[in-house]
Amino acid sequence: MAVIDPIDLRSDTVTRPTPGMLNAMFSAEVGDDVYHEDPTVNELQDYVAELFGAEKALYFPTGSMANQAAIKLHTQPGEQLIAHQWSHVYNYEGGGVSFNSGVSCKLLPGPQGLLNADQIGPAVNPPDFYHSPLTTLVCVENTTNKGGGACYDFEQIKAIGEVCRSLGLKYHLDGARLWNALVATGDDPKAYGREFDSISVCLSKGLGAPMGTVLVGKSSVIDRAMRVRKVLGGGMRQVGYMAAAGLYGVKNQMSRLNQDHLRAKSLAECLSELSYVKGVEPTQTNIVIFYLHENVSESKWLDFLKAHQVRISAMGQGKWRMVTHLDYSEEQHERLLTTLGLFNP
Ligand SMILES: *Cc1c(COP(=O)(O)O)cnc(C)c1O
Repeated sequence: MAVIDPIDLRSDTVTRPTPGMLNAMFSAEVGDDVYHEDPTVNELQDYVAELFGAEKALYFPTGSMANQAAIKLHTQPGEQLIAHQWSHVYNYEGGGVSFNSGVSCKLLPGPQGLLNADQIGPAVNPPDFYHSPLTTLVCVENTTNKGGGACYDFEQIKAIGEVCRSLGLKYHLDGARLWNALVATGDDPKAYGREFDSISVCLSKGLGAPMGTVLVGKSSVIDRAMRVRKVLGGGMRQVGYMAAAGLYGVKNQMSRLNQDHLRAKSLAECLSELSYVKGVEPTQTNIVIFYLHENVSESKWLDFLKAHQVRISAMGQGKWRMVTHLDYSEEQHERLLTTLGLFNP
């Protein structure tokens, strides 16, 4: 049997460093970052801070740690944050909001994982009503992960920011895939930098680095973030080798995200025309979420995917996810479009 090149669309985190990225890693200058002496980490932090017009930035090993540190910095135990019911901070960070910060979540609904400014006011507990937890933080996600890679309209981001400022709430952006949103919308990162108290941006998703997330914000926030990162076990040493990968990704592999978006749109169109597919969520960036008809046998579908060496994510209840990325080639894309047409439920 001929060996086929497997197609892995489970996530945009399955990529391997490109030759240019590896080269940047091997030639990185490093030092002990716990002493702030790693020149490459410092360069990455300065570069990303500057990109968002922020005062400072701090390199974290993961996006979860950066989000959790931000939540810790913006809240006190017993308080409450507001987030979408599908948010990563609530669903996929191991319960860290309560474990690390002793904070509860008020979860709000909304199409495609997006919040609307009008929802925020009514979700805030009255500050003088001491029976309820004090609401102190709003977290939004852009693009939305579980919401299918949807982007906020920047006007909505600003409107939520106005509500936060008028009610004295902090405002954090989980921007794990903010790069995708910036490429898709053409929005100015500095405008984002002005709106939020903190923003986390992942280097290990679409940009293709092996690890790393940068948290940006005011010096007053980031200086305190250093201590929280240490407490969480995220103080790292000669990590410039990894920061070099992230810096290379930001500088050289951001504009190509558009290619991922085009392929995702093309997959969404293909799926929407197949009789065994019940529906496809609107596809704005690199995430395609679709639903199989109820009469499709899940085991037959899984066998089919396996036989064709295609890996995607099951999200439960007939919901499936494909994520395009830099290791998903044009050849694989053409082959997948053909393959999807071969399934006979
Ligand atoms: C991937 C992701 C994160 C961070 O995840 P880590 O695996 O901890 O790096 C945070 N938020 C969203 C929306 C994500 O998709």
